[in-house]
Formats: sequence, structure tokens, C-alpha cells
Amino acid sequence: MRIACPHCGERSLDEFVYSGDATVKRPDHASPDAMHAFVAYTYERTNLPGPHRELWYHAAGCHAWLVVTRNVSTHAILSVALARDVALAEKSAAGPA
Ligand SMILES: [Zn+2]
Repeated sequence: MRIACPHCGERSLDEFVYSGDATVKRPDHASPDAMHAFVAYTYERTNLPGPHRELWYHAAGCHAWLVVTRNVSTHAILSVALARDVALAEKSAAGPA
């Protein structure tokens, strides 16, 4: 598998470190149901075939955090974006705080 880093271009999987599911958000530790929320965050995951958003770190390259959308059945990479850009777009879409 090869990942096209936005900074470095297409590179071998060996240069990257998988860092988990990019679709889940860490719960608020101060919320009244924090214990249940952290159990769900840690253990209750679906594992469906098809496209999935994942966090990857370009450890042997530019050290960028990436959001990779990958078909987990075929390993085909559908898109790669800088995690920073994804976070800014999600914050912008959510509107002013
Ligand atoms: Zn890179």
C-alpha cells in the first residue's frame, strides 16, 4: 500500500504510522456521563467494510498528520488530506463557537 502525502508525494506504507479511527471524537472528561462516554469511545466501534477515515502520521517523512479515507475491504486509498485542513474545515462548518 502507498499513501500520497500532500507534502511529500506518494510514499511507501513503511514511512507512516497508523494512529486510529479519524471519525471518533474524544469525550469531554468533565461531562456527567464521562465514564460511559469513555467506555463507548474506547471499546464500542463498528467495523464495517467499505470506506473508512483513518489518522496516519508521516513518521519517516514530513511528520504531518493525515486523514486517509481508505476502503478497508480493498485497501484502496480514496483520499488523503492534512488533518489540520480537515479540522479547520469541520470547525468552519460547525460555525462560530
Ligand atoms: Zn509527508
